[in-house]
Amino acid sequence: MAEFSIIDHYFNRQTIASSDVNIVDLGVGDDSAVLTPPPQQQLVICTDTLVAGRHFPLNTSPHAIGWKSVAVNLSDLAAMGAKPQSILLALSLAQIDHDWLTGFSQGLYDCCDQFGVSLIGGDTTQSPHLTISVTALGWIEAGHAITRSGAQVGDYICVSGTLGDAAYALHNLGHPLQQRLDYPTPRCRLGQQLKGLASSMIDISDGLAQDLGHILKASQVGAQIQLDQLPISEALRILPQEKQWQHALAGGDDYELCFTINPQNYKKLLQQQSDVNITNIGQITQQSALTFVQNGVDHLLQFHGYQHFA
Ligand code: ADP
Ligand code: MG
Repeated sequence: MAEFSIIDHYFNRQTIASSDVNIVDLGVGDDSAVLTPPPQQQLVICTDTLVAGRHFPLNTSPHAIGWKSVAVNLSDLAAMGAKPQSILLALSLAQIDHDWLTGFSQGLYDCCDQFGVSLIGGDTTQSPHLTISVTALGWIEAGHAITRSGAQVGDYICVSGTLGDAAYALHNLGHPLQQRLDYPTPRCRLGQQLKGLASSMIDISDGLAQDLGHILKASQVGAQIQLDQLPISEALRILPQEKQWQHALAGGDDYELCFTINPQNYKKLLQQQSDVNITNIGQITQQSALTFVQNGVDHLLQFHGYQHFA
C-alpha cells in the first residue's frame, strides 16, 4: 500500500464534526485545508510531537498513541480557554503495519469524536523513528485567551483532577492508573468555562512545579503551595509522603489545568457545575519564589520537571 492509499484508507474519513460544518470548507484531499473563521473569533493554534520511546513506552497500544497524540494538543488549547476545532496529523512511520495503523487511527478518531474535532489534513512520510506530530486549531472570542502572564498577588492557585497518576503509572506499568498515562483527558470544557474568570492558566505536562514556574515567571510573581492540599489519588497514598509530593509536583504527563483566579471569581466558579474536581492548592505571592508549606510550616523541596536536552 502506498502513501496515498494509507491516507485514503486510514485518515480520510469524510465526516466532519457537526459543530464544524460551517467552518471546514475543504478537509483532507487537496493541497491545503480551507476554513472559514467564525465571526469575532481568534484562531488559537499549537503543535506537539510524540516520539516513540521518549513520549510513550515502546509497547504502548497503537490506540492509546492515537488518542494521546490528539489529547496532548487539545490540552494546550484548553489551557488558553479555546474551543478545539480541528487537527492536522504529520505521521512518520518506519514501516506499514496495518494492525498498528488501524488501532492508531481509531484512537485518534475516538479522541477527535469525544471533543468534536475534525482531522482536516496532514502529511505521511517514511522514517526510521515512529514520530507523530499533531497540530490543533481552536477558536476563542477575540481578546479572551487566557495566557500565562496574568497572575496577580492574592490570586488562588487551582488545579483540576489529580496529580502524579501518570508518573506513578510510568514506574508501575500494568497498574490501573496506566489508563491516566495512556489516555489523558484534555480539560476542554473547564478551560472554556474559565474564560473571564481565571487570570492565568497552563496545562501541566512537565510537572506542576515546573509548569506553575512558567506562570510565575511570565507574571513576575511568586507562589506558596499547601502540600496537604495537593490532589493525590487514593492509589498513590500508599507511598511515603515525600514520594507522593514528588509525583504530584515533578511527575510529567498529567494534562491537568493549573490556573490562577481571584477570590471573587473563585466563588463564582464554585457555584457553577464542572466536569472535573477543582482543588485550591495555594496562593500567588509577591516574593518571586515558589515555596511549599505543610501544616503552616515551611518545607524545603527541590523538584525538577521533565526537560528535553537536559
Ligand atoms: P502534498 O504532496 O500536496 O503535500 P500530500 O500528498 O502530502 O499532499 O497529502 C494529500 C492530502 O492528504 C492532503 O490533503 C493532506 O493534508 C492529506 N494527508 C496526508 N497525510 C495525512 C495524514 N496522515 N492524515 C490526514 N491527512 C493527511
Ligand atoms: Mg501539494
